[in-house]
Amino acid sequence: MKGSCFCGSVTYALSQPPVLAAYCHCTLCQRLTGCPFVHTVHFEHDAFRWTHSEPHDAALDSFSLPIKPWKTRWRCKTCGVCVAGHNTKTGRWSVWGGTFERDEEGKIESWDSIKPTTHIFYGTRTLDVDDELGKWEGYADKSNRLG
Ligand SMILES: [Zn+2]
Ligand SMILES: [Zn+2]
Repeated sequence: MKGSCFCGSVTYALSQPPVLAAYCHCTLCQRLTGCPFVHTVHFEHDAFRWTHSEPHDAALDSFSLPIKPWKTRWRCKTCGVCVAGHNTKTGRWSVWGGTFERDEEGKIESWDSIKPTTHIFYGTRTLDVDDELGKWEGYADKSNRLG
């Protein structure tokens, strides 16, 4: 599986299937993206690698929030798109679903591997979603089920 920022200056590849693929309705995702919820896909540390030319950092800006210093997010210096985040507590990478490689019709090629299987942090949603996926107050199977 491969993906990139909008302009293509930053690219990445994944060598393993995700450990989590979800729609996240948490207030952090809402405030960081300006969207009601985010398609987030998590991978084990070794599954992720940058594939644009080295040094990789030359094309990237990194950000971390004082309330979550263990999480670093990377954005493309050219187009500003946030592509991936790394969590030093879990060792995992999170990748935004919209950045995965697309075919000529605009469809994500690896959709079957990365499609969301659940709604997490649905308790703080700003939009009701009428689908068949489970809906959880926090993380799936670790919080109250809301739907
Ligand atoms: Zn870019
Ligand atoms: Zn979130």
